[in-house]
Amino acid sequence: MTDCIFCKIVAAEIPASIVYEDEDILAFLDIAPTNQGHTLVIPKLHVRNVFDATPETLGKMVTAGQKIARGMQEALSVDGVTLVMNNEPAGGQEVFHAHLHVIPRFEDDSIFVKPKHTTYEGEEMSMVATKIKNAIV
Ligand code: 5GP
Ligand code: ZN
Repeated sequence: MTDCIFCKIVAAEIPASIVYEDEDILAFLDIAPTNQGHTLVIPKLHVRNVFDATPETLGKMVTAGQKIARGMQEALSVDGVTLVMNNEPAGGQEVFHAHLHVIPRFEDDSIFVKPKHTTYEGEEMSMVATKIKNAIV
């Protein structure tokens, strides 16, 4: 896609610090890291996000994410990693070429605020579960 910043990175039209590459996947450092080493894993072929990506593409992204997480454990002595995929603006997505964040984590790094929680009343929990279950194809 011509207007996509991550497609331009795949095409080497703009630079990136690449940490992993195979036939289908490219992974490079995020330009504004939450912790140093914060990596973005993308499919080389443009897809928008989790809604239009194929299961194969998502599988390849997660598989590469695992390799990178293990590399971070070895190279950066991380205490943990957080894998995040933001989808659509309401889901926090700002770049509309699918990407998986692989974020190095250290004890007490406090880089994420705790999420807000809500509650279910009465039968709501089972109703919501049934709704989602019945919509899965
Ligand atoms: P999102 O909010 O869409 O999940 O995350 C997009 C990420 O892409 C952000 O963390 C942002 O810092 C990163 N990013 C945006 N533009 C560039 C760029 O040109 N190069 C690199 N390496 N990262 C970018
Ligand atoms: Zn793209």
